[in-house]
Amino acid sequence: MMIAQNIVRGTPHPEASVSLSVIQASENNMPQPTIIPRAEHTISRKAIDSDALKVLYRLHTHGFLAYLVGGGVRDVLLGRKPKDFDVATDAHPSEVRHLFRNSRIIGKRFRLIQVFFRGGKIIEVSTFRRPAEDEEGDVLCDNNTFGTPAEDALRRDLTINALFYNIADYSIVDYADGLADLKAGRIRAVGNADVRFRRDPVRVLRAVRHAARTGFTLTPDTLAAVQAHRGELSLCPTSRVRDELLRDLKGGAAAAWLELAHQTGVLYSLLPTLEPYYGPQDSPQRARARKLLAQVDQALANGRDVEEAVVLCLLFWPVLESQAQEQEFTPDRKGRSEWALWMRQALPAVAEPVAFAKRVMERACQIAGLMGFVTLASPGQGMPKKVVTKGYYPLACDLAGFLGWDLDGQNRPGPGAGAGGEKRRRRRRRRRKPRGTGASPT
Ligand code: ATP
Ligand code: MG
Repeated sequence: MMIAQNIVRGTPHPEASVSLSVIQASENNMPQPTIIPRAEHTISRKAIDSDALKVLYRLHTHGFLAYLVGGGVRDVLLGRKPKDFDVATDAHPSEVRHLFRNSRIIGKRFRLIQVFFRGGKIIEVSTFRRPAEDEEGDVLCDNNTFGTPAEDALRRDLTINALFYNIADYSIVDYADGLADLKAGRIRAVGNADVRFRRDPVRVLRAVRHAARTGFTLTPDTLAAVQAHRGELSLCPTSRVRDELLRDLKGGAAAAWLELAHQTGVLYSLLPTLEPYYGPQDSPQRARARKLLAQVDQALANGRDVEEAVVLCLLFWPVLESQAQEQEFTPDRKGRSEWALWMRQALPAVAEPVAFAKRVMERACQIAGLMGFVTLASPGQGMPKKVVTKGYYPLACDLAGFLGWDLDGQNRPGPGAGAGGEKRRRRRRRRRKPRGTGASPT
């Protein structure tokens, strides 16, 4: 409790004085929030992670503002299980760090605190932040100054992501009319969509993702900003774009995302290579890709993990299939090597506009390369043992399963082949033994 005495409200940590003065200075021009008291909303503490509640209460009992923010509030209101629970506070990072022994400070420009709990769970705590939008600067200029709750709400991407849950009185604090949008099923940018998406075009992806995930409708101004700024995704750091895309593909609504990304054109800003195939209104390839991704959504809903390499193969599969038809593969064993070799350049070429991790792309090429054992299968030919023992073979079976094939079935030896194969292996082993040991077999 020594630490607690140093950081009770009114005796701020020395480093905190700057942020508090910023908060006080800028509070005057800020909009007043709508406060929705506990009796008038549906957020129950039962739906909030117990460790997140611990963090909120600890901050609150030490005199700080403590809000649950972002996707956690949105998802609880929608009756969904949030992926993570983030907390925002007026406590300075160093104050938060002192309050939680099981924590560390991360981030160079804007420092936030990760509080660690059992099972690898992390609750992130950030100090209220100011938006960078009204400042001069380049696209994506990071903002690293502390702000008020109002400023923190108004720097967020979408109104439904800007809702705060206040642990002090269990009310919802709504600066951006997010609750009305949530009830009406609207995806709307906070503030001027055109300005906000120009400042950070990654918000284009986030708007489309949340619309696809919730089934909500993009408001006309937000839709217009999506279309106006989707071309600027190429200005964003490639790692951010890639990470957001992977969240789309593995977020449980990949099929709906594909369709909306097609309709808004975002898909072709990300991956122009897909446009000739998925672009036409009645594209059978896009319909197939949608079905494949719907299976991924289903698998994830059933609690199964689907590896990134498999998801990538499925996203691109209908394109690869069409391109493969224009190739001439030798109709025998040689053809399967040709397929694997061809896949090594065809898959990276179609995926190239997005900087997928090399390791993932390599794995995707390996497993897609093995699909030649199905597409170019000849009756009675089993899967070579050297293929079955490869580390990525189970992943290839997974991919084949999504494509409606039984790759493992290819491993079944053809008629009469099983017994012969066994015999040959045993004979070879017997011959090698005396050579290896130098000992006499008798
Ligand atoms: P998910 O359920 O996928 O985690 P999320 O909305 O929680 O969705 P996060 O990436 O975890 O998304 O971000 C947490 C919060 O940070 C968001 O809800 C939003 O308020 C804010 N945020 C994230 N990215 C941006 C951005 N590019 N611009 C403005 N605010 C953002
Ligand atoms: Mg989140």
